[in-house]
Amino acid sequence: KSGFVSIVGRPNVGKSTLMNSIVGEKIAIMSDKPQTTRNTIQAVFTDEDCQIVFLDTPGIHKPKNKLGEMMVKSAEDAFKNVDCIIFVVDDSKKIGKGDSMIIENLRKTKTPVFLVINKVDKFADKEELFDLIKMYDDLEVFEQIVPTSALKGSNVSRLVDVIKSNL
Ligand code: GDP
Ligand code: MG
Repeated sequence: KSGFVSIVGRPNVGKSTLMNSIVGEKIAIMSDKPQTTRNTIQAVFTDEDCQIVFLDTPGIHKPKNKLGEMMVKSAEDAFKNVDCIIFVVDDSKKIGKGDSMIIENLRKTKTPVFLVINKVDKFADKEELFDLIKMYDDLEVFEQIVPTSALKGSNVSRLVDVIKSNL
């Protein structure tokens, strides 16, 4: 099996950390400064029976200048020509303007979209996570919802299994 997967989401939710955790190498530049990933970065995950190319995109946001415009365009290109899209959000309890904008775009694509709720290590209890899963599930946009902690590596292998089963 093989395929292409793009990782999208607003800046700072942990996209680069997640990709690095999947491929096990520090390829994408990670930072708590938004917009550290200026271009789409590719990393390849390989095991016995599959090869997956991950595209780590610059965060999608409202562009303020030419560089910003280029970054958003590069992220939007990531919606096309891939086998599935991983949309990453963090532990925020509400869906902000930035995420709503991306979700409305994701709604229009025919490519399957999986939601990753990242930074689950920051939740105080399971209830908080369940509420968030329900909120996103009600949008009826995502094929599946996978909670992860990219930083701690929790549930990252489950995400890979979900992607594999869709290839
Ligand atoms: P990106 O802009 O979406 O690529 O986000 P980065 O991967 O650069 O991460 C932004 C910040 O969030 C960094 O300080 C990361 O260490 C932090 N981060 C990423 N994943 C997690 C996680 O699962 N838990 C916690 N607590 N922090 C995380
Ligand atoms: Mg990044």
